[in-house]
Amino acid sequence: MRQERRNYSRVLLKITGEGFCTENGFGIDLEQVRFLADEIVECIRTGKEIAVVVGGGNFIRGAITSEKTGLGRATADYMGMLATIINGMALQDTLEALDFETRLMSALTASDVAEPFIRRRCTRHLEKGRIVILVGGTGNPYFTTDTQAALRASEIRADVVLKATKVDGVYSADPMKDPSAERFDTISYQEVLDRKLEIMDSSAVELCARNAIPVLVFSLREKGNLLRALTGEKIGTLITA
Ligand code: UDP
Repeated sequence: MRQERRNYSRVLLKITGEGFCTENGFGIDLEQVRFLADEIVECIRTGKEIAVVVGGGNFIRGAITSEKTGLGRATADYMGMLATIINGMALQDTLEALDFETRLMSALTASDVAEPFIRRRCTRHLEKGRIVILVGGTGNPYFTTDTQAALRASEIRADVVLKATKVDGVYSADPMKDPSAERFDTISYQEVLDRKLEIMDSSAVELCARNAIPVLVFSLREKGNLLRALTGEKIGTLITA
């Protein structure tokens, strides 16, 4: 049965690495990170539980780097996972400067800067109102942080995956290239897969479908959108059964 948007309590927010830099930029832009932090803080203040999965594409995407440079795919993927730790540290520092309690949890061993990801510990942090930042991907090459988001959302029983992107939802075609592309208000997991809509990895969509976790695709570029998405306002595209 198709779900409607809801006022969610525990959410898994996936922020692509591109959210950490200026448009088409590289690396970290601290103004951007502050913007992300402000958005998250606004939601935490309303008592929501938020786990954030951080991408690394502002530094490196394994598949692309491997193809361009000739570096081995697994090596490039590990580099990509390390990049997510850099982004997570920037977000953590920025949130803590605003006086909010955070925990950085990594799937890759990085014990000097992050705790290991332990599911029960993660849910405990959330219950205590800490913002949990999940980095290091799944800890395995050949995956992406979208799959990590679907996996962790399933593990911590999140109500929804909030997938923050550059565009304001799922379109029938790439809206940057095709002006006649139409935006969906809701769409089924199966249709996303059948139409090969490249909004999220197919493995991530499948995992969310199997565990009945809705995915809300929305743009984080506009101020206040995260709270709107969280409280069930009709923004973005809801992917559900
Ligand atoms: N990555 C990986 N395994 C994972 C998650 C990420 O190998 O479980 C690597 C992969 O190379 C990926 C990069 O880390 O391209 C950065 O993650 P992603 O591309 O998902 O970041 P985003 O597109 O969200 O910025």
